[in-house]
Amino acid sequence: MKVVLENLTKIFPSRNKKSDEQVVAVNNFNFEIPDGKLIGLLGPSGCGKSTTLYMISGLQAPSGGKILFGDEDVTDLSPEHRGVGLVFQNYALYPHMTVKQNILFPLENLKGEDAMSKAERLERAYQAAKLVQIDELMERKPSELSGGQQQRVAIARALVKMPRVLLLDEPLSNLDARLRLQTREEIRRIQRETKITTVFVTHDQEEAMSISDMIVVMKLGVVQQIGAPQDVYDNPVNLFVAKFLGTPPINVFEGKVVGEKLHIGAQAVLDVPGVADQEVFVGIRPEGFILDSNGPLTLNLNSVEVMGRDVSVVSWHTDALVPAIRSIIDADNKIDRDSETINFKLKPHKVFLFNKETEERIVVER
Ligand code: ATP
Repeated sequence: MKVVLENLTKIFPSRNKKSDEQVVAVNNFNFEIPDGKLIGLLGPSGCGKSTTLYMISGLQAPSGGKILFGDEDVTDLSPEHRGVGLVFQNYALYPHMTVKQNILFPLENLKGEDAMSKAERLERAYQAAKLVQIDELMERKPSELSGGQQQRVAIARALVKMPRVLLLDEPLSNLDARLRLQTREEIRRIQRETKITTVFVTHDQEEAMSISDMIVVMKLGVVQQIGAPQDVYDNPVNLFVAKFLGTPPINVFEGKVVGEKLHIGAQAVLDVPGVADQEVFVGIRPEGFILDSNGPLTLNLNSVEVMGRDVSVVSWHTDALVPAIRSIIDADNKIDRDSETINFKLKPHKVFLFNKETEERIVVER
């Protein structure tokens, strides 16, 4: 089922009677979510991710714009009639019910032509439980399960009605690091198997990048960029997106373009054909550095951290806007740890220039 968001907007009125300052939580969101894809809605706290999800679910009414499921306008439809499955961060299971009763619950109150016999309901519940691999735990109470298992029950409960759209709001936030990793792979598998169009909200860029077919990066209610995770990482439209994606994060410097050469401090570090003379912000991905004693960029060496296959070189520069510059290079490189400085060449496609006022990306002709 494709989901179309047309000029979707949500404005919350001021909470303070004396001021009329409104919060524009979501501002003119346009996106056609392709059928059967998993979309990661990503951004810092307060950027409007959850509000967008709640509008798709019907739990919150938009202030403007439309939502379509396929060709059907569902903007004014109540959540029960939209055919959505919702999973929240806190699982929201009924503690006094068994796993089986929790999963059966959404099927119990179906009326009219949707009503099912007990045998049908049980079959559906077991199908959903099998899909998330908790069919062995059906007689347990939620308190007798791990966090990861509880979240699987919540997912099974969302799937049992065979929703048209699956909506997940930070579903992994309450799990420890190992379970997070395992459960996110599970969600990906389940989504692939069911092919249900899924929207996944998270503030964790790594999580979104790893499981999404497409990511939507938001800031203050405004969509910044939509695309396949790798494309957005490789071609960020502005400094905000460049900084939000990637661990370790991108290194940002103040720089200057003079005669189609990028300067950081006094050093000309890279040719930038087609770029007019101007001051710029320079973003260099940690993997964009090549160790080279004759390299044009000299950084002040702080420390070298071995991470197995790779080495993380931590350094500083007076024109860097980050306190620690991180360069990731192959562990086979020989680094003189006693040296005060370290020199690098730069990989052109890992270096981005941004306009100093607008912070929009400046295109380099390559
Ligand atoms: P988080 O990751 O912290 O949940 P989010 O990106 O999901 O953040 P939203 O919860 O969608 O952000 O909130 C977007 C903006 O709308 C925020 O500024 C928030 O304070 C505001 N907001 C959310 N709900 C309401 C409400 N019911 N009344 C007024 N303002 C609200």
